[in-house]
Amino acid sequence: MQGLKAKKVKKVVFFGTGGTISALSSDPNDVLNYQPGLIAVGDLAQSAMAQGGGLEGFLPIYEQIAQIDSKDMKFSIWQKLIERLLFWSKDPDVQGFLITHGTDTIEETAFFLYLATRELKQFPTIVLTCSMRPASAKDADGPQNLRDATALLLDPSWFSSGVMVVCAGRVHHAGAVQKVYSERLDAFSSLPYKQCGEFVNGSPVKLELGVEENYFSNELGISRPSIEQILEPKEWPWVEVVQNYAQNTGAVVRALLGYVQPSGLRVSGLVSAGTGIGTLSEELTQTLKFAKERGVLLWQSSKCAFAIVKAKEETDIFDFQGLTPSKARIALIMHLLSKG
Ligand code: ASP
Repeated sequence: MQGLKAKKVKKVVFFGTGGTISALSSDPNDVLNYQPGLIAVGDLAQSAMAQGGGLEGFLPIYEQIAQIDSKDMKFSIWQKLIERLLFWSKDPDVQGFLITHGTDTIEETAFFLYLATRELKQFPTIVLTCSMRPASAKDADGPQNLRDATALLLDPSWFSSGVMVVCAGRVHHAGAVQKVYSERLDAFSSLPYKQCGEFVNGSPVKLELGVEENYFSNELGISRPSIEQILEPKEWPWVEVVQNYAQNTGAVVRALLGYVQPSGLRVSGLVSAGTGIGTLSEELTQTLKFAKERGVLLWQSSKCAFAIVKAKEETDIFDFQGLTPSKARIALIMHLLSKG
């Protein structure tokens, strides 16, 4: 009818990847022994919404991308996620994306998605959520996390806010979030940055965004791959993390330099997880310099949980703005990917 606009339907796309949130245990009191990746994302979301929270008036879309324990996360699953996110982002009715994920590597997937999508204008917010107890547990935490994540996506003030992890009533930025407890329900921290939101009475409240948005600054010579490069069906660059500790002779680096994978791939990047502010033993420093002379790209991080690493020009290892070793590794992979 002329003059009357059809009511816009808000869509939220739920992608399932597995994790404890989709796990079952034979004993509702056992929160440690269970099998992840058993319940489909649509069933999880429907059952969470049926338990309350008053989240209505949106059209859910469900896609099962994987059903794994996230310790087994693969680049091919990240590629699939990107492909489906791009597909749905073309639908103007899509309000946001919710990804259910295991807690073990949720921060890696979140950070990868952040780097891959941050240049895309008006891209709907992506929220990853999880649980520490299986769905069958007496006091399962997954349903509340799912409702919180959905409430955030349905709140227009959070539209196109990047990539976040929602767990235990808190909203963490993808650049800052890390799992710091293996058992607690509130397993994540944004330290040394600030968390970007929290839930009050079921509604997401914005706090200060405590993360510098310059992880990929060009001044550091760091570049980003295009979506086409991310989706190209070829092996991604091989990057390893090398820790510093007592009596580190650099032998691991020498072993890595000598190894060729069955596919012919050689190590092309190394991230140092140094002690304290990123320090490395003399021997490890020398071996890394040797690796650099052979064309291996080096980036620096610290194995301290809440580190802000400062660049040391004389070692020629990049400052990487306090990223954790596993996130610095993802950034370096992306950087190498952009070089073709
Ligand atoms: N191992 C599980 C996973 O990451 C742990 C969890 O989800 O809490 O898939």
